[in-house]
Amino acid sequence: MKVLRRSSKAAIWSEAYRRSALSIGFVPTLGGLHEGHLSLVRQARLECDRVAVSIYLNPSQFNSDEDLESYPCDLDADIESCRAEGVDLVLLGQQEDFFPENFQSWVLVEDLARELCGAGRPGHFRGVCTVVTQLFHVIRPHRAYFGLKDFQQAKIVKKLTEELLFDVEICLMPTIRSQDGLALSSRNDRLTETQRAAAPALHEALVEAGNLISSGETSAKAVKEFLLSRLAGVAGCELEYVEVLSAATLGEFPGQVLNTSGEGVLVALAIIFEEVRLIDNIQVQDAGVSDQVESGSEGGS
Ligand code: AMP
Repeated sequence: MKVLRRSSKAAIWSEAYRRSALSIGFVPTLGGLHEGHLSLVRQARLECDRVAVSIYLNPSQFNSDEDLESYPCDLDADIESCRAEGVDLVLLGQQEDFFPENFQSWVLVEDLARELCGAGRPGHFRGVCTVVTQLFHVIRPHRAYFGLKDFQQAKIVKKLTEELLFDVEICLMPTIRSQDGLALSSRNDRLTETQRAAAPALHEALVEAGNLISSGETSAKAVKEFLLSRLAGVAGCELEYVEVLSAATLGEFPGQVLNTSGEGVLVALAIIFEEVRLIDNIQVQDAGVSDQVESGSEGGS
């Protein structure tokens, strides 16, 4: 496994495999790797000849210095996890490669980035879209893997890939959860014991809301109110948003009347336990609630 710091070197690595007609799978990450990230790596390993992982704690997608500074970071452990999964290249992103001084060329996806996480975190998706674009140019993957835990991000990346004519297939993977339902996140380790014990209630509330929709509730307002009342009982958590939207457009359903056909309904939330921000979502389609449960390992990173 190669561990490279410069994107120019990673581009040379990629070019060699492209010339040999070998397929490249790519998993971009912020680091703090856990089973959620590794599930993407494993899928890439199954489907591609070579697998590249980037680890780059991109400051431009953080809104607070505190969140950035307290983000878990153990590069040696991350590199070891990649080695154990048979990754071929780890690119350790450098600020001077991606956002040198006087950087001005941002990539924006407009409507899809406005609501949900975009509303409370101005500039977040601009940072994500810009670095994903840069990484796609460097790695030139055939397939790139993203988790549905970040449903809005996955949608936005798909959109930018299509509209900016990248020749890369975006593969979306289910959310990996702890056995108690909490979606794995690098931030989970920052929860206190009490917060960690309370956190599975988020997923429970989402599943109950999903069941409500599956059993025929069509009012977005009623589902939202149900969720708000369930979440009001979760000790110590402050709500950033709860939304019940079209999973296809991330917009409201006409007349707020839910429709589970096609991509169906997205029920999404973001909450904050003191400084720790957690997001989660489920999708409800005609076939039922897909809360993307798989058995992940306990803990976050
Ligand atoms: P991050 O390092 O948080 O930017 O995540 C890198 C990739 O891993 C993104 O595509 C995330 O959606 C994905 N990811 C993070 N947590 C999970 C999880 N619990 N299950 C599945 N994918 C995840």
